[in-house]
Amino acid sequence: MIKLGFYGAAGEVTGSCYVVDTGRARVMVDLGMHQGEREADEHNRRVPPIDPTKLNAVVLTHAHLDHCGRLPMLTKAGFRGPIFCTSATSDLAEVILRDSAEIQCADADRYNAKLRRQGEPAQEPLYCPPDVNPVLGITRRVNYGEATQVAEGIQIRFFDAGHILGSGSVHMTINDGPRTVSIVFSGDVGVSGSPILRDPSTPSAADVVVMESTYGDRDHRSLEETRAELLSILRDAQASGAKVIIPAFAIGRTQDLVYHMGEFIRTGQIARLNVFVDSPMAVEATGLYARHTELHDDRAREIALGKQTPLSFPGLTYVRSAQESRRLNDARGCMVIISASGMCTGGRIVHHLYHNLARPETHVVIVGYQGHGTLGRRLVDRHETVRIFGDPITVRAKVHTLGGFSAHAGQSGLLKWFEPLAARKPRVFLTHGEDPQRQALSTLMRSRFGVSAVLPMYGDVAEV
Ligand SMILES: [Zn+2]
Repeated sequence: MIKLGFYGAAGEVTGSCYVVDTGRARVMVDLGMHQGEREADEHNRRVPPIDPTKLNAVVLTHAHLDHCGRLPMLTKAGFRGPIFCTSATSDLAEVILRDSAEIQCADADRYNAKLRRQGEPAQEPLYCPPDVNPVLGITRRVNYGEATQVAEGIQIRFFDAGHILGSGSVHMTINDGPRTVSIVFSGDVGVSGSPILRDPSTPSAADVVVMESTYGDRDHRSLEETRAELLSILRDAQASGAKVIIPAFAIGRTQDLVYHMGEFIRTGQIARLNVFVDSPMAVEATGLYARHTELHDDRAREIALGKQTPLSFPGLTYVRSAQESRRLNDARGCMVIISASGMCTGGRIVHHLYHNLARPETHVVIVGYQGHGTLGRRLVDRHETVRIFGDPITVRAKVHTLGGFSAHAGQSGLLKWFEPLAARKPRVFLTHGEDPQRQALSTLMRSRFGVSAVLPMYGDVAEV
């Protein structure tokens, strides 16, 4: 009997974690961080009810924090590996986990100072920087398409998910006595036509499909329209000598934006433009995007053949030091500043907004999801005044919200990804989506493919 357990991203978007238990072997797929909800910290401390020392392997779909963010807790609790992932995922996970560990530790210090004042006992951080090394020491790099034995009777293959660099869907084959069962884990499915990365590819047929449903209820605005909107904002800023400030996630979105701006310049749609990527993590991640040329799509290769690189152009500066970043606060004239965090909840972007929101000539371009309660959301919701560093700031800048740069497939993309799997009428579990989104997708899958999907909740275990 094979058991498939759901321990995260079940009825929610973050905290991905599944466990396959055949009796002879136990393999976990992802162990991500819960993010953005009020109970996130409590949920992050609730680990799957599996003895980490009895776990044979982890398979990691990609390096986003909501998929890899709790792996250091697993090694802290006695897991000794291995962790299977693609080479680029391993590289990116290092950047992400080190950053996350710093944040976890700093947050815990702040929180514990508060608890101390209230005379309450301190709380352990989820993990700290030294806890990341054991994770990095046990990763095993696997190529796309390469059949790899991960535990007794369990074999996997990665398929390019086209979501971020190195992202994969997993096709898992399980030999259970006389029976062979195959399970596909979609991971996060990307968008066809996205820059640099190849389009998502669907794994071979399977008996069971565990599929994400983040945007199961809608399609995004088209990439073409969104690029056109960005182009017109940049032209406007060039004409008036204005600053354009773009809060962007350091991994994925920043590289997309750099690529699009580079294409505008390479194809002569705009003149030379000063663009600053001002986030140390984004700078590191961009280096990895540039280095993993084996994962680039045809257009990125074509650019490279023309003696250019898809992630650089004249006028582009990668900013590392805090001093250099501060200098941008007072700099005048047309320039684009791409900085993190993506939701303006911390990091250098907050300083740029603090110094420029009150200026009517400033453009602020929102290119990603903004969670409730964040500064980014208040800008999207057009609050007239926002509070930054305790000061009220009147928002006179022009705030633009561009909807088509998502790294997740919209509804049509998800259905297209699933179509090749539909013929076998697999058992489908929809995860990584809130209930309205996964219900909408489930309804469509029933009418289009005659497949009825299960919507699992946290802790559910299915026999497959
Ligand atoms: Zn992701």
